[in-house]
Amino acid sequence: MQKIPFKTWVVNRTSQLDFDNALPYFILAFYHLAPVANPQEEVALHHAFFQDQDAKGRIYLAPLGINGTLSLPKELALRYMQWIWSKPGFENAEFKIQEYETHAFGRLCVKTRAELVALGFDVPLQMRGTHLKPSEWRAMLEEEKDKVVLDIRNDYEYKLGHFEGAVAPPCETFKDFKEYADELKTKIDPENTKVLMYCTGGIRCEFFSAYLKQNGIENVFQLQGGVIKYGAEEKSKHWVGKLFVFDDRLAVPVSDEETEVIGKCHHCQGPSDRYYNCANMDCNELFICCETCLNTFHGCCKTECSGTNRVRPFKLANTPFRKWYTYAKTKEELNQLRVVEGSHANN
Ligand SMILES: [Zn+2]
Ligand SMILES: [Zn+2]
Repeated sequence: MQKIPFKTWVVNRTSQLDFDNALPYFILAFYHLAPVANPQEEVALHHAFFQDQDAKGRIYLAPLGINGTLSLPKELALRYMQWIWSKPGFENAEFKIQEYETHAFGRLCVKTRAELVALGFDVPLQMRGTHLKPSEWRAMLEEEKDKVVLDIRNDYEYKLGHFEGAVAPPCETFKDFKEYADELKTKIDPENTKVLMYCTGGIRCEFFSAYLKQNGIENVFQLQGGVIKYGAEEKSKHWVGKLFVFDDRLAVPVSDEETEVIGKCHHCQGPSDRYYNCANMDCNELFICCETCLNTFHGCCKTECSGTNRVRPFKLANTPFRKWYTYAKTKEELNQLRVVEGSHANN
């Protein structure tokens, strides 16, 4: 199997940390379920911790715990993890780390959320599915006959890569999943069929699995630590394609083992595993595109978009989700950056 340079570390308080040879920035992904008595206060503490520090990304604090993903210099990442481990209830928080040359987010946002995963109602977390370590998950994929593997991420994530044989129920909102879950119960043997579910980092499964069990599906299993941790421990076994991530990288390998490309170019259906946001800032549609079509359509998702006068320089499309002022200080400067022939701004 072809090897590619890619590595994920999964660390907790007791890990031996030796990152001397790692790239200068770390991208941390983490969540931990433990009571946060005062989320608002915890947000303030985070702001104080990160004041004048070079951290970017998103952290959400809720009464049930914390969920975050950050890019930051590795020394700061280590200090942040130590700080989290020092908080009562968070001693066992687990962090997934990937190295990177630079930031993968545009800014830092720390805020409270009523729910860590948007459901709109409470599920009994004590009814969560059985957590499977990556090696146990792999064994179950290989040995279990009567099973359904559920990818409970978004459709656009599934399209780029997923576990072999996984099905992708509609999951854009929890309401979609609820309807699917009710139907699933009638299609499988709810007492015997094993339902295996996974998501990117594991947090969605904590809530969705509880819902399945509460609704009468008995054998529910969830991949602990999600696909990110699986890749760190089991590499790309039974995984096809790439992993969608919610930062500037958009897609990463699961491990250092090369896998086949399963994504298809939105324009020509040719193989590609690169997502772009449409260069037309008023559209911003996320789509998979091959390099040829990226040039042909000036980084846009459709011809109509490439003809507008709000097209950002698509050669810089490796920094997605950005506002126009990322590309220029003034609108006049932005106009000069335009790569679409013959497009002129109105103002
Ligand atoms: Zn194409
Ligand atoms: Zn578009």
